Amino acid sequence: MKVLVINCGSSSLKYQVLDMQNEELLCKGLVERIGIDGSVIKHERADGKGYKLQVPMDTHKEAIENVFDALLNTESGVLASLDEIGAVGHRVVHAGEKLTESTLITDEVVKILEECFDIAPSHNPPNVLGIKACQALMPNTPGVAVFDTAFHSTMPASSYIYAIPYDYYTKYGIRKYGFHGTSHKYVSERAAKMLNCNLKDLKIITCHLGNGASVSAIKDGKCIDTSMGFTPLMGVVMGTRSGAIDPAILEFIMSHENLTIEEMLNVLNKKSGVFGISGVSSDFRDLEEAADNGNERAQLALDIFAQKIKAYIGSYIAELNGADVLVFTAGIGENSISMRQKICANLENLGIKLDPERNNLRGDEAIISTVDSKVKILLIPTNEELMIARDTVEVVAKAK
Ligand code: ADP
Repeated sequence: MKVLVINCGSSSLKYQVLDMQNEELLCKGLVERIGIDGSVIKHERADGKGYKLQVPMDTHKEAIENVFDALLNTESGVLASLDEIGAVGHRVVHAGEKLTESTLITDEVVKILEECFDIAPSHNPPNVLGIKACQALMPNTPGVAVFDTAFHSTMPASSYIYAIPYDYYTKYGIRKYGFHGTSHKYVSERAAKMLNCNLKDLKIITCHLGNGASVSAIKDGKCIDTSMGFTPLMGVVMGTRSGAIDPAILEFIMSHENLTIEEMLNVLNKKSGVFGISGVSSDFRDLEEAADNGNERAQLALDIFAQKIKAYIGSYIAELNGADVLVFTAGIGENSISMRQKICANLENLGIKLDPERNNLRGDEAIISTVDSKVKILLIPTNEELMIARDTVEVVAKAK
């Protein structure tokens, strides 16, 4: 079966087509600036053939129409007809507590996702726009929703309940949900395969370090804790997000800087993190270059980032009563040799010993710990799209 995987943001849309007979990637692409001047689609087939086209796209539906044109293109397309697509897998960020595993999209499911707009206002509305556009354009092709929150639904209440009046949980669903679940799940499964072990026998800590970053603790193949919270703003320091800070700081800054709550949250989401600390960039390549050239705040940002990740690793080793595996993934985890080194430095007492030579690589699956490291350290490129496509095939097969 060929599966179209769609990941809709507010003004962007990423897509891939995979042939699931052999899990082969056929093409991928990106639409940017949907609803904004200068909309553009970049399409690339697996053999490198593709194109970049500027064409007005006011809605997600128009964006998907352009994706279909790309898939059917005679020069660089991958389909003779749209009927070849057996199912569409949609990345959906938030499913609240009602949906805890990947599911066939029905009107009822869409309704539940709309009910989550309140708790995921920047993510779920564009996800649902993508779903509705596909339903309108391919009414006979089944759609499957795969949730970022699903993998974390196994956390015990002691991990997900906040120490605020319990009523806020029962009335509004205020609790830790966790995100990047598809990635944490994928790399934990790969880790077991790479080590030739049964996933259920491993205690794993996964570090998804990209623009957004989160750390998870996994036991028996199930998530028992994760660093992101009610929203993806919580946890470690990120590119532009603050991660955890003392909540009383909000009121202080708002009154001194005369900010509304929306403006304050914008600062915490878009102007904080390593970008806010350094004043240089949210991109770790820029920060590493600036730090090498003597920029002290860039160095400080890198130091703080590493320190926060270390703190989660330590606390998850305690929660898991030891760890067998530590995984690095996503843009920074896969590519920043120096950040992996910095995070793992001085953790020998916890059984974590990075091998500097094995660590000297980017973007490939590898074991990068020393032979005598009690905790095996793995580098595993994430593949959320493959995971979404796998779930899509499974859910569609079950529904038949
Ligand atoms: P997203 O959360 O947007 O999916 P990614 O997982 O693609 O993010 O990670 C993007 C980040 O990865 C960039 O902002 C950059 O900080 C980091 N990154 C990518 N390549 C490198 C590299 N060679 N060295 C250091 N950091 C890198």
